Amino acid sequence: GHYGADYGKEDKVLVSIRIRPTDAASAWRTTDGVPKSIKLDPQYAKSAATPSQEFQFDEILIGSDNKPVYNAIARSHVNAAMDGYNAVIFAYGQTASGKTFTLTGDEEHLGIIPRAMKDIFAYIRRTPAREYLLRCSYLEIYNEAIHDLLAPPSSAVAHPVQIQGAAGGGVLLAPLREEVVTSLKGVHEVLRRGARNRRTASTDWNERSSRSHSVFRVVIESRERGGAGEEPAQSGRMTPGTRPPTPGGAMLQARAGRSVQMSVLSLIDLAGSEKATSDKERTREGKYINTSLLTLGTVISTLAENAAKNKSDHIPYRNSKLTRMLQPSLSGDARISVICTLNPDPSAIAESTSTLLFAQRIK
Ligand code: ADP
Ligand code: MG
Repeated sequence: GHYGADYGKEDKVLVSIRIRPTDAASAWRTTDGVPKSIKLDPQYAKSAATPSQEFQFDEILIGSDNKPVYNAIARSHVNAAMDGYNAVIFAYGQTASGKTFTLTGDEEHLGIIPRAMKDIFAYIRRTPAREYLLRCSYLEIYNEAIHDLLAPPSSAVAHPVQIQGAAGGGVLLAPLREEVVTSLKGVHEVLRRGARNRRTASTDWNERSSRSHSVFRVVIESRERGGAGEEPAQSGRMTPGTRPPTPGGAMLQARAGRSVQMSVLSLIDLAGSEKATSDKERTREGKYINTSLLTLGTVISTLAENAAKNKSDHIPYRNSKLTRMLQPSLSGDARISVICTLNPDPSAIAESTSTLLFAQRIK
């Protein structure tokens, strides 16, 4: 690949911490200036399980401004995706720590997803030599079943998305809707529809949203524009927004001697990492969530270790639906960013410590 100097192998996985504001005093102390390390305030350290540990990360971001978060932990990944590399950004943390605020945000605080899409369209505008096609999909993994959030809720339940192995180590998800988008407006329409379907599909929406992973994916295809003597380039920058009902329903065709470049950007709002709080969760759901977050940790830490030490240890992608569906997007020269969100309130010390331990493990 032709990553710049920033993209050394040791950087395969970027691990950052984001601390949301709190009304209570923060239980955590970070280094001054540009913080890179975090530890428990001595006032609370006595009673905690891991009192004196100091954790180091690539970035520690404090507060409610989403712009520096995007710039520090997402922008280079989005650019890499535009250059043809697969990229995945995860938000990990206990419920109410700020995963959705960070990834989606609100009108006033645009999150990573809208900022990424804005950047993608800007990239396309300043790259007139290439022609692009963007396809979005939006899905939810709940109790190890994959639901297409862009399909009508009744059909999404009746036809859960299946994962099939494909040629060359690929993975095919079917049936899965992919919407061609040509503008930010189109993206917002897709996001709104997904969110609406997610709400109507479940009676206990809050509960379910904290117990499921949601995955927003953009497939980015591009090819060089045709030169003199070939068919004229299309007047629009991209193929018009028809809705292919099946994956690959609209694809750029390779022109003579010019290959199509394809990559996937995946933006993932993970299930809450908190320990089971009810009997119901301790049984089925809780087990699924623990297994899939644990598997994610193992997969990412093994990937990072393999890359750093030039090893090829076995990676257990198949132990969860999430890692299995992401296998092609995590392996090879894919770029991964994990942002772990923290509620700094003293009441959340135990969960925050467990989030920091997860983050350290995948570092
Ligand atoms: P999660 O998705 O992890 O369950 P949310 O993103 O829904 O958590 O955040 C819970 C609440 O805290 C929301 O009301 C959200 O607006 C607020 N919040 C989270 N993170 C921040 C932040 N960094 N700055 C300001 N408000 C935040
Ligand atoms: Mg959320």
